Amino acid sequence: MAYKNINTALIHGGISTDERTGAVNIPIYQTSTYKQDGLGKMRGYEYSRTGNPTREALESLISELEGGHAGFAFASGMAATTAVLSLFNSGDRILISSNVYGGTFRVLDKVFDHFGFTYRISDTSDPAAFERDITDDVKAVIIESPANPLMTVTDIRAIADISHRHGITVIVDNTFMTPYLQQPLKLGADIVIHSATKYLGGHSDVVAGLAVVSTEEQAKRLAFIQNSTGGVLGPFDSFLLIRGIKTLSVRMDRHTENALKAASFLHEHKGVSKVFYPGLESDPGYEVNLRQAKNGGAMISFELAEGHDINTFFESLELVTLAESLGGVESLVCHPSTMTHASIPKEIRDQVGITDGLIRLSVGIEDIDDILSDLSQAIDRSEVRK
Ligand SMILES: *Cc1c(COP(=O)(O)O)cnc(C)c1O
Repeated sequence: MAYKNINTALIHGGISTDERTGAVNIPIYQTSTYKQDGLGKMRGYEYSRTGNPTREALESLISELEGGHAGFAFASGMAATTAVLSLFNSGDRILISSNVYGGTFRVLDKVFDHFGFTYRISDTSDPAAFERDITDDVKAVIIESPANPLMTVTDIRAIADISHRHGITVIVDNTFMTPYLQQPLKLGADIVIHSATKYLGGHSDVVAGLAVVSTEEQAKRLAFIQNSTGGVLGPFDSFLLIRGIKTLSVRMDRHTENALKAASFLHEHKGVSKVFYPGLESDPGYEVNLRQAKNGGAMISFELAEGHDINTFFESLELVTLAESLGGVESLVCHPSTMTHASIPKEIRDQVGITDGLIRLSVGIEDIDDILSDLSQAIDRSEVRK
């Protein structure tokens, strides 16, 4: 490796040149099958569910970026999560951070549940509380840090240390941070999952998932599951992700610079009652986050002050777009309780603090002044006249 820095690895990491032609971009190998030179004489590929050169280039890239043993690309973040969960058995229990992506909760609550694989919500931001939730059947924990949508920070190293004493596999959904800001495997985690739909793709034009494992044994098992269950990423989407990842560091620098300004603006605004953003010094997760990540990322949640109508706020936005998803170049806003986290029952949402007044903002890379003036006018208009 002729480089040390992730800024370079984003562009040259993994398999970065086409062996046969020297093409500096890995071609889109849009093929389902491969000629065999005789019975059992394959040239390294036999069928694209099992292996495809474009997908492999992406898989080797994400593995290198996360510092793992092997990477795997899937048709969505949920397909990646499902494949990773398939490493476990009926009778096993998994602990999940108290605010995780709604789909992660749903697949455990409504799908894996049928196979006798159970879950329990645990406050991973409090290592002692987490340790108390460990029972003999707990075999894994899924952490998001910062977690979705309340940006709760979990000390990944502390949870990994406790988990490993109990033989528990630590899975981190690193979607919000990306390997540019945080590398969970280096903090002791065992497996990293990404919804690459978000920052890694970065342009809101591809749905994809990635997983990175840290041992040969996990790699063998996950490769087997990936090939057996078949939720693989296609060659064109793999190409789009490789292309997106090349600019990850410059995008994230702008995303996070804008986010800090947006969070400070919201924090000081009298029309806003609460701001959740670990990049603010006043945030309870600030210090732990800074120990394990480069900065607070670019996801902010907030609540409007009393006397503001949330619906009017959403309808008044002109630049910032009301939509599901996050991590694209454009600023997006969403309402977790009816959108991304609607699949979590209301009692649980209330219990973990995902209120109906909560707004989640994915700060884009537009000019910050334009973002702030749009937020400002929408907050002003949302004030209910007395
Ligand atoms: C979007 C998201 C997922 C699910 O990914 P898909 O690509 O939509 O399947 C999982 N985790 C987090 C944190 C997400 O934001």
